This record gives sequence, C-alpha cells and structure tokens, in this order.
Amino acid sequence: MVNSPAPVLVTGIANERSLACAVARALRAQGVPVLVTWQQPRQQHRVAAVAADLGCELLGPLDVSDPQSLMAAREALGDRRLSGMLHAIAFAQLSDATGPVPVHAVDAPSWAQALEISARSLPQLLHTFLPQLNPGAGVVALTHHGARRVAPGYNLMGVAKAALEAALRYCAAELGPQGIRVNAISAGSVRTAAASAVPGFAERHAAAAKRAPLRRNVSAEDVGQVAAWLISSQASAITGAIIPVDCGEHLLA
Ligand code: NAD
Repeated sequence: MVNSPAPVLVTGIANERSLACAVARALRAQGVPVLVTWQQPRQQHRVAAVAADLGCELLGPLDVSDPQSLMAAREALGDRRLSGMLHAIAFAQLSDATGPVPVHAVDAPSWAQALEISARSLPQLLHTFLPQLNPGAGVVALTHHGARRVAPGYNLMGVAKAALEAALRYCAAELGPQGIRVNAISAGSVRTAAASAVPGFAERHAAAAKRAPLRRNVSAEDVGQVAAWLISSQASAITGAIIPVDCGEHLLA
C-alpha cells in the first residue's frame, strides 16, 4: 500500500473565489491531502461547503490576531505532520469616511493592525507550526507588486506586503538548514473579497487585461497551479523566491 503524503495546511479561504481556494483545488488535483482553516465564525459554513466540494478536511478556526486561536489550531493538528503551508492572509484599513487613506496619514492602530495581520502572521504561522513541518516542506505566501512599486490605492497594504516579503527572506534563510522552503507568489489582480476592498481595484483590473504583456488578467487558477508546484518537491531547490504570476505586468514601467 502506498502511504498518502502529509497534508498541506491552507489558510485564507473566505469563499470559493479566494486565491486559497484555487490553491487547495490544485493541491487536491495532485492527490495532496489539504487541511483548511477559517478566520471568523460567520465564515465557517461557507468554508465547510468549499472544503467538502474539494475534498479537504476542516482543521478549525485560525485568527492570526488572536494568539489563543493560533494555539488552538496547533492543538487541533495534534502530532500530525505537514508537507506544506499556504499563507493567504491580509487585512488593512485602506479607506475611511473621507475615502482612501494616504500612507502618510495612517494612524498608529491601523498601521499596527495591517502589519500584524498581513506581515507578522507569516513568521508567526511558521513558528507555531514549525515542529509539524516535514523536512522539504514548502511554505508559500501571496504578495503583490505594490510592495515594491507604488500601486495607487494599495497604500498601507503595499507597506505591509513589503514587510511580508522582507520577513519571508529572513525566514527562508533561518529555516533553510531544517529543509523548510519559504517562497511567495506576487499575484496580479484577481477579483476576490480582499482585492475588491482596495480603492480603484476595478479600474486597475480592467487596465491590467489591456496592458499586461500576455493581454489578459491572471486567474485564481493560474495562482493555484504555481503555488501547488512551489509547495511540492518539484520546487525542492527554491527558497526565498518571489515569483510573479501576473501575465508579465511586473515588467512594465
Ligand atoms: P480573500 O478575501 O478571499 O482572502 C483573504 C483572507 O484573509 C480571508 O480568508 C480572510 O478571512 C483572511 N484573513 C484576514 N484577516 C485574518 C486574520 N486576522 N486571521 C486569519 N485570516 C485572516 O482574498 P484573496 O485575494 O484571496 O487574498 C488572499 C491573499 O492573496 C492575501 O494575502 C492577498 O493580499 C493576496 N493577494 C491577492 C491579490 C488579488 O488580486 N486578489 C493579488 C496579490 C496578492
């Protein structure tokens, strides 16, 4: 009998449009067992339906802003091993009653919240689940070109993604000796709940299809396929990399 591979822990499914959902689908297509978490109680029902559809197992709630929730997820895993992990978590308060908030006007609580949830959560997840990660495990996070260039409306999220990318490089160097690989995909615009909350998203999404070298928008499936590959042993010599999956948009000035 062939042993099934250790599961991959997938965070960040809110609904069937989530990039994390496409990653879970791509992993399942490769026969990889997938454990999924949800953030808020009101998401549980929807995430459970997505998980059932894809043949994923529900692990439990996981809110990275709540240390007790992280510990509970860790306990729910018990002594099972993981062959990988997807970090697909982001939040930043980008608008207020007056409209988009420029980076220079962000207040301290909003700044701390964005960095905590969208950037610190990657090292936090790695630290929490490190004892469970098999040597050779692939961990993938999702970032955006707005970390490196000014993307109008992306504002505070661009700052948080820059921190996420820096944290990724340090974690990749720190955990490489244990055989843990940490990479990211820099995804082009895909219509999801989080993306739709970014001021100007609809205009940028429409423009991307016209100006990207491949002359189309990126799909969630495009991101899912590359993430599943990066998590797998086929990418066993890649760590600390940020791979653009954006139909070539990153090439443009
Ligand atoms: P989404 O809204 O489907 O997913 C965002 C997820 O973050 C949700 O599941 C939400 O519950 C989770 N989350 C927020 N706060 C959390 C917390 N405190 N604890 C745990 N989970 C929390 O949107 P998405 O576009 O699929 O976003 C997934 C990732 O992809 C994010 O990191 C996002 O920045 C990144 N990304 C998205 C795009 C895009 O255009 N959609 C482009 C580049 C990168």
